[in-house]
Amino acid sequence: MKPVGLLGGTFNPVHHGHLRAAIETKEVLDLARVHLIPLLIPPHRDPPEVSAHLRLSMLQAATADEPALLADDREIRRGGVSYTIDTLIQMRDEMPETPLCMILGTDAFAWLHTWREWEHLIELAHIIVVHRPGTDLPKDVPANRLLRERETCKKEDLQDSPAGSFLSMAIPFLEISSTRIRSILHNGQNPRYLLPDSVLEIIRKERLYL
Ligand code: ATP
Ligand code: MG
Repeated sequence: MKPVGLLGGTFNPVHHGHLRAAIETKEVLDLARVHLIPLLIPPHRDPPEVSAHLRLSMLQAATADEPALLADDREIRRGGVSYTIDTLIQMRDEMPETPLCMILGTDAFAWLHTWREWEHLIELAHIIVVHRPGTDLPKDVPANRLLRERETCKKEDLQDSPAGSFLSMAIPFLEISSTRIRSILHNGQNPRYLLPDSVLEIIRKERLYL
């Protein structure tokens, strides 16, 4: 059975780095699709200044004509602080047998041990860390120590069971972050080509990140 991927984030705003990472991972691991899941309230940082509704609208605009990517509003609908463990419990409930692949970048991976019930995440999904070619995973982080025992480099392992494997993979990495886009806009400069035009249209119309 083809695994289903999920990539959570603030998406404030979504950009080509997120979208390419989702597509590259989908192709390499032969995923059925990737759910992009904007959080409502982040556990570990200040709430984004742009509403969840607008962050979701931007994500919907970015993925509208791409069947492999799905803007998934479950964390917004659920309300409260967005814990990934709750999202995985919910997805597992909906898809009892389907392999789930939780995708995260190395920056998020370095803090995985601070996530709620982080040691249980791998019981509900496979964990996929994407990193820049030529770079290694952060070796000293607690997550790396725990997950090494579960490590695989075979994508078949992801299809053979619903959860439980850890895989890291290098993908062509676009040097783009939402922080940089916000700062470009804040300085009155042009962020075009870092993110989809349809997203930029919403930003301009709603006068975001000024
Ligand atoms: P911010 O600058 O506000 O932190 P961000 O660009 O890092 O935003 P997030 O919404 O924080 O985006 O990230 C969501 C997920 O996407 C994280 O797992 C992160 O590692 C990953 N990610 C972010 N930017 C990229 C990129 N350019 N390439 C691959 N993955 C990325
Ligand atoms: Mg980030």
